[in-house]
Formats: sequence, C-alpha cells, structure tokens
Amino acid sequence: MSKQNRHHHVETQAVHMGNQVDPATGAVVPPIVLSTTFERQGDGSFPHGYIYTRSQNPNRQALEESLAALEGGARAMAFGSGQAATNAIFQSLKAGDHVIVPNEAYFGTPKLVREVYSHLGINASYVDMTNLAAVQAAVTPHTKVIWIETPSNPLLSITDIAAVSEFAHRAGALAVIDNTWASPLMQQPLALGADIVMHATTKYISGHTDALGGALIFARDDEFTARVNMVQTLGGAVPSPFDCWLIMRGIRTLPLRVRQQTSNAQRVAEFLADHSAVETVFYPGLASHPGHALAAQQMRGGFGGMLSFNVRGGADEAMAVAANLQLFTRATSLGGIESLIEHRASIEGPTSTTPQNLLRVSIGIEHVDDLINDLRHGLRAIH
Ligand SMILES: *Cc1c(COP(=O)(O)O)cnc(C)c1O
Repeated sequence: MSKQNRHHHVETQAVHMGNQVDPATGAVVPPIVLSTTFERQGDGSFPHGYIYTRSQNPNRQALEESLAALEGGARAMAFGSGQAATNAIFQSLKAGDHVIVPNEAYFGTPKLVREVYSHLGINASYVDMTNLAAVQAAVTPHTKVIWIETPSNPLLSITDIAAVSEFAHRAGALAVIDNTWASPLMQQPLALGADIVMHATTKYISGHTDALGGALIFARDDEFTARVNMVQTLGGAVPSPFDCWLIMRGIRTLPLRVRQQTSNAQRVAEFLADHSAVETVFYPGLASHPGHALAAQQMRGGFGGMLSFNVRGGADEAMAVAANLQLFTRATSLGGIESLIEHRASIEGPTSTTPQNLLRVSIGIEHVDDLINDLRHGLRAIH
C-alpha cells in the first residue's frame, strides 16, 4: 500500500508518491516493467489495467501520479522529452486557432510554433509577457492558449501568472506555463490560476543529467485533457519505463536538491552583482531585478537555481570567462546536481536575440564557496 496522501508535505510526497512496496516480491524500490504488452484474461479483460506500454505502463503511471501530486493537479501525463510535452499542447489545437507565445522563452518553444505549427494553420503572436497591456492587446476571439514561462530563459523575466491566467480565462483560452526553471518546489502555478503546467523533467525533476523527459500536469480532467491524452497515446512520444524510473528516483530528493541550488544561486548572484567584470546579473532574488517583487509574491522559498550574467565586453570575453572555469562544466541544459555554464547566443544560433556577452549558469549542489572561487578565478580572464 502507498504510504502517502495528498495532504502530506511536499518532502513526504516526493519520497512516497507513486512508490509502493511491490506486492509480488516485497521489493521496496519498484521494479522496472520492461514488458511492452500485458496478458488478457479468457474473458478479454485486463485485470491489472495495462494493455500495451504506449497506452500505459506501471512505471509511467507511478511517475504521472507523483507529478500530479507535486503540482497539485487533477492529472499528469509523461512524455519522452520536454519538447514532446509542449508539442502535445499545440497538437491538440486546430487550424485557425491563435496562440500567444513569449518572445523571450526557452528557444525551442517559439521555434516549434514558428517552424511547425504556423505551417499547420495555427496563428501566433510573440509577446513581451512582462507587459500585461501587450498580452491583453494580443488576445483575439480565436486565442486558445497563452503560453507563460517564468522565470524565463535566458533573462529570468518574471510574468504575472495570476494576471495572465485571468486574461486567458476571460478569452476562453488556456493558460499553459512552462514551470521547468522554478520546479514545483518554488512555484505552484495551478494554485495561481494556470490551467496546465509543462515541465522538461530532464532538468530539476530528474535532477541528475541522465534522463530525458517531459510532463504536462492539468488542473482539471476535462475535454481538453482527454484530447491531449489521445495525442499522448496516438502520438506515441512516451518515455521508456527506465526513464520513468530514473525520473522517479530523482523526484525523491527534489526538495533537498532545489533548496541547496536556490541558496547557492542567491549567494552566487550576490557575488557576481558586486564584481567589476560583470555588467548585469539576471536573478529574480536580487532586489535590483525588475521582477523581484512579483517573483517574491508568486514564488515560494526562494528564486531557483538558474541565473544569467553579462560580462563586460562581447562574445569573446564571455567565452574567455567560461573557458577559464574549472568546476563549472561548459554544457547546455540545467537543473542537475552539477553546475553548468553556457554561452547561450552561440547555441541558439544566428537568429538568437540573446546578448553576446551573456553567460547562463545552472547552479548545482556543490559547496557555494567553491563555486564562487571558481567564478572569481574565471573572471580573471578579462579582469
Ligand atoms: C530544456 C527545456 C525545455 C525542453 O525540454 P527537453 O527535455 O530538452 O525537450 C523546455 N523548456 C525549458 C524551460 C527548458 O529548460
């Protein structure tokens, strides 16, 4: 039997949700069920509820239950990547529908809409989501989805989740939020009025840089949710049982990891803000950040483990600083236990609008003094 319930605190849910002693063997850690198919009884029924692993699998079901609990949703669906989860939202719309997408967000989101869905007859507006008047002005009678990402990639801009969700509802649209950077620990968008939360579980939720995954968590199990479920099953972009198992293992330590990353990031941001070779630090935990007050109101327990900063100079100076670091690994992605640094403009390519002197940092769980010493050393490359 499962030891958890929905009234438990997040730390307890993270450990116990979807994680029960295996009734067949007594195993404390759930087995990985690799079988792609499940036996049918003589009368044609499926007494365990599983038919074929694309439709559902015990490891995926456990992960989905855990994710629904962490975000306080009615239902969750797991996908093979964050992009597959995002895809499932837009695949559930129809030609002629209109969507509002942030003009500053994870690069793949507006690119997916522009390169794929615009060709399929979905109209999109790309808007500065920190400007509520601009969001409201972009709403049309055909608007079906307003996409939110806060804190955003790469400038950590803060969008008012409650206000934008209200615009969406007044227009009969859905507010969908990419909550990857905050993680369910730091931000609970469904409680603020959003309809659907999206995660790249590749990042904080799995937390160990060894599993690709995505998820959608729904406030309600309604008609649109059923449509997305159809897309999940028919589209087939589902995670493997092993990936589900790895992501579940990550969830058990999510609160511990994210708290450490957040307190480290706050200290690193304060260090960088005081450094003469740094032009600007983008971190909502700094009082100087334009979204600080709003972030303090809608996030909880801190401001997350991601930050960006502009060095004095251009692309060459930014690359030189990253090259001079020893502890930080130069790599894309984020949310893992190890600290990573990335020159974002060069990975986004020629259409990127990210400043050339910007470095994006994902803070890990190392000792913060070691991280700060490494950055101090790295910045000597241009100082
Ligand atoms: C990584 C990321 C994605 C995409 O997730 P994948 O698992 O790489 O497909 C989407 N949104 C944000 C904010 C991300 O950081």
